[in-house]
Amino acid sequence: MIHFVGAGPGAEDLITLRGAKLLEEADCIIYAGSLVDPNLLKRAKAACDIYNSATMTLEDVLAVMEEKEAEGLTTVRLHTGDPSLYGAIREQMAALDARGISYDVTPGVSSVFGAAAALDAEFTLPGVSQTLILTRMAGRTPVPEREELRKLAAHGASMAIFLSAGLLEEVQRELCAGAFTEDSPAAIVYKATWPEEKTLRCTVGTLAETAEREGIRNTALILVGDFLTALPERSKLYDPHFTTAFRKGDDT
Ligand code: SAH
Repeated sequence: MIHFVGAGPGAEDLITLRGAKLLEEADCIIYAGSLVDPNLLKRAKAACDIYNSATMTLEDVLAVMEEKEAEGLTTVRLHTGDPSLYGAIREQMAALDARGISYDVTPGVSSVFGAAAALDAEFTLPGVSQTLILTRMAGRTPVPEREELRKLAAHGASMAIFLSAGLLEEVQRELCAGAFTEDSPAAIVYKATWPEEKTLRCTVGTLAETAEREGIRNTALILVGDFLTALPERSKLYDPHFTTAFRKGDDT
């Protein structure tokens, strides 16, 4: 059996209870070495075989999974954040399906939520934005044309941009070709929830120079939108005049 597990954004106590238990029981752990805190591996049994997938190909990973499976052993494939975002899990699952090897998935706290927490931010502010767009800039991995950053940025919704900290000149240009301006609020969150976390509030026009000044090229999320600075309107949910399924309001 293979368990895909989300490790959480960084801090070792942000893995789920289920994920931690699976790590403790695993006979083999294959972890995404570049972004998973090695301290999580302290949970492993002494006899657990541990592999860092940063130096492995898909074929190498599958070979280890197949070998462990043949011995009746349990493997945890530990991915950073939540495995469903830029985790390259579907290609592993398709190969496991072809080999008749079963698997399941334990979700994790994505870095996008680690970053919001670091900024005390709420992506979905009433009157500001009720939508969060998770995306990336096209780089060595292409992005479908209909999802070009400038097209998504045309909505002016809250945005979280992954995998793009090394492309900030382009990110700025694309955001300004959408609904944002140089003065729109932005933030760079480097290594959210890790001890070396940095939160840098800036504007769309100063993203590149802010990252350059701080020496940030990777492991950062770019957040953009008025949610970063707007004063909140009152929500309906906790308004005494508003009736919900659980509470009668005075409906005045
Ligand atoms: N599955 C992961 C994303 C993996 S893609 C998740 O759910 O978070 C790798 C990208 O995620 C990085 O380039 C960076 O943009 C972002 N990222 C991952 N961990 C991060 C962290 N702790 N702080 C800020 N960004 C992070």
